[in-house]
Amino acid sequence: MCKQVVIIGGGPGGYVAAIRAAQLGASVTVVEQERLGGTCLNIGCIPTKTLLHTAELYRTLLKGKALGLKVDNLQIDWTALQNRKKNVVNRLVKGIEALLKANHITVKTGRAYLTDKAAVAVNGEELSAEVILLALGSEPMRLSFPGADLPGVIDSTQALNLETIPKSLVIIGGGVIGVEFAALFCSLGSEVTVVELAAQILPAIDSELAAKLRQDLSRQGVTFLTEAKVTAVEDGEAGYNVKVAVQDKVEAVPGEYVLVAVGRRPCTAGLGLAEAGLVLDRGRIVVDQHFATAVPGIYAVGDCNGQRMLAHAASAQGVAAVEHALGHPSIYCASTIPSCIYTTPEVASVGLTEEDLQEQDIAYQSGTFGLIANGKALIEEGQTGLVKVLTEADTGKVLGVHMLGPHATELIAEGALAIRMGATIEDLITTIHAHPTISEAIGEAALAVKGVAIHLPPTR
Ligand SMILES: Cc1cc2nc3c(=O)[nH]c(=O)nc-3n(C[C@H](O)[C@H](O)[C@H](O)COP(=O)(O)OP(=O)(O)OC[C@H]3O[C@@H](n4cnc5c(N)ncnc54)[C@H](O)[C@@H]3O)c2cc1C
Repeated sequence: MCKQVVIIGGGPGGYVAAIRAAQLGASVTVVEQERLGGTCLNIGCIPTKTLLHTAELYRTLLKGKALGLKVDNLQIDWTALQNRKKNVVNRLVKGIEALLKANHITVKTGRAYLTDKAAVAVNGEELSAEVILLALGSEPMRLSFPGADLPGVIDSTQALNLETIPKSLVIIGGGVIGVEFAALFCSLGSEVTVVELAAQILPAIDSELAAKLRQDLSRQGVTFLTEAKVTAVEDGEAGYNVKVAVQDKVEAVPGEYVLVAVGRRPCTAGLGLAEAGLVLDRGRIVVDQHFATAVPGIYAVGDCNGQRMLAHAASAQGVAAVEHALGHPSIYCASTIPSCIYTTPEVASVGLTEEDLQEQDIAYQSGTFGLIANGKALIEEGQTGLVKVLTEADTGKVLGVHMLGPHATELIAEGALAIRMGATIEDLITTIHAHPTISEAIGEAALAVKGVAIHLPPTR
């Protein structure tokens, strides 16, 4: 008899796991309280990148003359752009509905709970299953400064659905979501200020890349206040005045809206998880290397286990979890998970950073190639970018690839594959990259590890 699998959550963790479980012969039910596709499709990856795509086109076309274009009276049609965003999202959600149907997966709409027998209850019905997979996702964290409840203090979901482009926007948090929204609204003409508590924006990214991105976005018009803390938001002429403590001073930064982008927390409260025997650590479901929880037969993947809050990580974990649960061999290789930021320039990173290597006391070599010497980057106006390759000192094994520049989010797949295959610096060097492409810079950065990049002056 085929195994019964019940999955709570239809985001990239849940729906991908559902399809994999069906492929392996299980009888699968997905319970989703909102829309299939989860945060990623409906209010995350897809709508943000749709808006960023148009914003970047707009910013590029504004430079028309320099690019050999005559562009008169270029305007943003915000309503049409919002409609395009909805259409892209709807098409993808419909695609998932069709895929689940084609795989004979049952979808139930409603909020699911674990009962004390570790079964799933939804809409008054109890679903029993040999395998339960929790893919519950996450929600924005809130801060509790005075004024945090004012109507113009918004989260990322509200920022995606603003009725007009704000004249000014203060973003609290210089992480990936904050920086992407800064790039988006700055390109669309808003005056944007990012307030970040740490000394560096994007603390998880290679510090050289983070500093360069900050420079580039500052040049585009974004103001960054680092080592700065929002103490209050008050009504003001622009809409609001955000009180920001920077060193010994308190500044008042005006903003029509204040976007709080200080991270996300797992949606694990009030679902009977602890009562069913699951172990939680600050809201995150504790899992082992197979994403199994403390209760046999119950797995937890994606944002709700808090390991890597990324859509592709959630999907890979979902696949690994159901494969393990259904007795199928599975591989989950966390070191190949890329982190991408869809600003202009783009940032993409896989493997260890220099900071990680130093912290872990691993002897390494580094090679950096600036895109100023790359022909395609010049064509695409991405000369401020760079590629950095990090290798293990003894073996030459690729440990990290970090990129800033055009198409970095696409090109990082080469770095991920190199890490997955245990490639060495010689493998990168002897892989022939097409000309003219930005990818040539990966080969050059690999050569730079040995001090012999072709398109750089000799170092010794
Ligand atoms: C603005 C923004 C931009 C982002 N951009 C990117 C990006 O470019 N790339 C990237 O990799 N990641 C991005 N992310 C993160 C990405 O969206 C998440 O990592 C990903 O969606 C996690 O997938 P998941 O399946 O774990 O959870 P989710 O996608 O959050 O799905 C969980 C689903 O479970 C449902 N659910 C929860 N509890 C219950 C219940 N009790 N009963 C029934 N249903 C339930 C929810 O309704 C939801 O649909 C972004 C996030 C945001 C907010």
